[in-house]
Parts: sequence; structure tokens; C-alpha cells
Amino acid sequence: MSNEFKWIDEDADNFLFVPGADDKPWNNAEKGWKKPNYDLYNPDRVDMEELHPEERDKSFIEIVKGYSKEQALAEADRCVECGICTATCTAHMGIPEYIKAIRNDDLEEGLRILYDTNPLPEICGRICTHKCETVCSIGHNGDPLSIRWLKRYIADQNPSEKFKEILGTDTIEQNGKKVAIIGSGPSGLSAAHYLALMGYSCTIFEKLPKAGGMMRYGIPEYRLPYDQIDKDIDYILSLGVEIKYNVTIGKDIKLEQLEKDFDAVFSGTGLHLGRSTRIPGT
Ligand code: SF4
Repeated sequence: MSNEFKWIDEDADNFLFVPGADDKPWNNAEKGWKKPNYDLYNPDRVDMEELHPEERDKSFIEIVKGYSKEQALAEADRCVECGICTATCTAHMGIPEYIKAIRNDDLEEGLRILYDTNPLPEICGRICTHKCETVCSIGHNGDPLSIRWLKRYIADQNPSEKFKEILGTDTIEQNGKKVAIIGSGPSGLSAAHYLALMGYSCTIFEKLPKAGGMMRYGIPEYRLPYDQIDKDIDYILSLGVEIKYNVTIGKDIKLEQLEKDFDAVFSGTGLHLGRSTRIPGT
């Protein structure tokens, strides 16, 4: 290209933008490159099957059914591997990489990529807020990729009894240090997972009778089935993590005691209080 086609700016931030979403002075420049009107991918998302309303009425069965292999392959095939989604995902998951693993029908590799950055794939594959999909570049000219449902597809298809073998976590060298974790919600479980992989002996103290925090006690079963929460948690427990239920720190066990008994304490107590509308009478 000649110099006529160059845009020069001294502020580097001007070049950080989401194409098509953030306005830039060169957007409508006559000599700028214009995308021709054809696509190599299908702009339409593969529909997700859902439970019939009559069945929903009478049960707490999960509403969303999940992709079949054919559906997942067709959906994964729409990804152009641009990687914008990775920057937007709060966990910076390797999204184009795990979608590529689906295209290659290598779901074990897909699982390894998921666990690299996210130890709760069954849960996040169902209830994460999928900010990645709001920036997916396919969404500028069609439906964004069903990133969350593809993540769920990988987690669903791998049987839990093979997780340790696939993820290479059969034997973990211990470092002799102990960590106490307060709360078994997403942060406590994530901390336990990664610390256990580093060789720390982790004990989680949970004040409720079951683990999962708001994921279990705040989300209805038809959106997030309990057996799927357990699948994620059971794998973390299989790494040697222990959970002590019905124990409230500060009441049943004092913090000073934890300080004595452990090398470190991680606190992830969550935010279980509801938020008021602050309107009198509600
Ligand atoms: S933004 Fe969309 S098209 Fe780009 S890598 Fe992510 S899923 Fe694929």
C-alpha cells in the first residue's frame, strides 16, 4: 500500500479497539479496506434443543439439552480463530484452541485446555455469563459462536472417571505445606484445585452441608443440575483436597487456631446477603 492508506497516531491507545464496535476516524475513509460481501462460514448459530415447556412445568430437569457431536462440530466450524474472545473472557480461557479441539474431535485435548485456566468447566459451561460471546467477531455479521455451549460439550463428553488420566494428575508430588481455605464456593474450590496441583495439602471449611456456595444454593437445579456441580467438585476432591462441612470459622473454629494449624489461610466467604431495592414496603 502507498502512504495514502496509512493512519498515523502518536497515542498507542487509539489502536486498541473492537473492530466494528468502537468508532474510529478511518472507519468511513474512502480508501480504507472494505470487507466484501461474502462469507466462508455459516452466520447462523446451531440451535440448542430445550426441554418442552410441558415437561419443564412438571420437573426440575435441566432445560438446555446440550449439543450432539454433529451439532458441536457444525458450531465449532464457524470459528475463525481470531482470539478476541480470549481477551474478554475473565479467565482468559484458550477459547479458539478448545474450539479447534472440537473440530479435530480431540475432546481430551479440549479438556486439558479447559483445565489450564478453569477448574469448573461443567459449571461454567452452563452458567457463566459468556462475555466472550458479546465480542465474538462472527457476531458482527451473524450470530456469535455458542462458546459457552461448546465448553459444556467438551466437559459433558469426557467421563469423570477418566479426568485424572487425561489431565495427568494421577500422582502429585507433595511439598509438605498445609493451606486452610474458608468457603467452598468458586474461589475456594479454584484455590484448592491449583494449590493441590502445586503440592499443597488443602482443607476447605464449609459452613453449609454441601460444597459449591452460591453455585449450589443460589442457582436452581433446572439451570445447573447438582450432579454436574458434583462432577467438578469430585474431581477437585480426587486431587486430595478435603472438605469439612458444617463448620463456621470464627464460631466453631477460631481464626487463631487456623493460623496455628496451617501454613496459610485463603478466605473466600462469598456474598450471600441479598440486595435490597431500598424501596419502603418491598
Ligand atoms: S471471537 Fe468468535 S470467531 Fe474469534 S476465536 Fe473467539 S469464538 Fe472464534
